[in-house]
Amino acid sequence: MKSFEYAAPKTLKEATALLSDTWGKTEVLAGGTDLVTSLKQRVTRPARVVSLRNIKELKGIKAGRGGLAIGATTTLAELVDNKDARKNFPSLVAAVEGIGSPQILSVGTVGGDLCQRPRCWYFRNGHGVLGRQGDTSLVREGDNRYHAIFGNDGPALFVSPSSLGPALVALGAQMTLTGPGAKTRTLAAAEFFRAPKSENERETALKPNEILTEIFVPSKGLKNATYEVRHRHGFDWPYVTATVAFVMKGGAVSDARVVLGHVAPVPWNVAGAAGALNNSAVSETAAARCGEAAAEGAKPLSGNAYKVQMVKAAVKRAVLAAVAA
Ligand SMILES: Cc1cc2nc3c(=O)[nH]c(=O)nc-3n(C[C@H](O)[C@H](O)[C@H](O)COP(=O)(O)OP(=O)(O)OC[C@H]3O[C@@H](n4cnc5c(N)ncnc54)[C@H](O)[C@@H]3O)c2cc1C
Repeated sequence: MKSFEYAAPKTLKEATALLSDTWGKTEVLAGGTDLVTSLKQRVTRPARVVSLRNIKELKGIKAGRGGLAIGATTTLAELVDNKDARKNFPSLVAAVEGIGSPQILSVGTVGGDLCQRPRCWYFRNGHGVLGRQGDTSLVREGDNRYHAIFGNDGPALFVSPSSLGPALVALGAQMTLTGPGAKTRTLAAAEFFRAPKSENERETALKPNEILTEIFVPSKGLKNATYEVRHRHGFDWPYVTATVAFVMKGGAVSDARVVLGHVAPVPWNVAGAAGALNNSAVSETAAARCGEAAAEGAKPLSGNAYKVQMVKAAVKRAVLAAVAA
């Protein structure tokens, strides 16, 4: 790997002061399960790495304020073990549990999962996040079996790798970002993820000198569940995930949200599918109808049409799991 300066500040103010305002010059380090690999593969070549390890205020989960406040360096294992999360947000816990490997769960952090870079093999092999060589899209022309079937009209064709992202969008979570001078701003989870249009942009709303500091998940009494379609449990990312969240009153659904993962450059909110669920009782037929609606508008690339059927099945199963939760 290319040599770099290592900094381990103790406060957020110090940490943001050590970050550059240009992408690529500095990188934030949390658990390192993604960053260290990309440093070794020279996909990332910063002059300075700023570790969050010694910043106490980023650690841990607090219940209160009408929900759960999750510090960005809380480990995935701590989230899975949290009793409030298990009780109120089974969709989020299922998304974390899917990650599978105990080593990743113990070291990887919630913030790191949300900010991890795409798994696209063109990106990981040095062709940039858009996977291009000159005017040619290597993704469109090449092997795109794991790429996007939604939101792929623009240049970004990778899929958002975070399994937590879709669950947090469906649950209406809020993200707090902290920039220079420890100045904070708060965004809805749905606004946090972005599809870059050029190699100078990244996959989130973070600026180069900002840190994701807290994720707040409101407790609104929503029925919620996540269903993942995976090749295998453990050392891999899912093909498709679906998170469903809704209010259930008098046997009827309202305020439904259906968010897909691993199918688009951002967690993919399917309003049409939510509409198919609202104002009805949940039955196997209604769940299947919701799955069909979720797959509408998919535009598979040459090698990933198989994901369309997976979307239908994942949504149907997530709806049925949410009712049972
Ligand atoms: C074998 C394997 C299987 C996996 N399967 C899955 C899966 O199924 N689903 C899934 O979602 N993930 C999966 N992952 C990814 C895993 O969840 C992430 O690697 C991990 O969560 C990253 O956390 P970290 O703390 O190690 O991040 P790091 O590696 O330290 O950082 C990752 C990226 O996020 C940035 N970053 C980290 N924290 C912050 C912050 N607070 N603010 C701003 N930027 C930040 C870093 O600069 C870096 O770019 C898998 C990983 C492996 C190795």
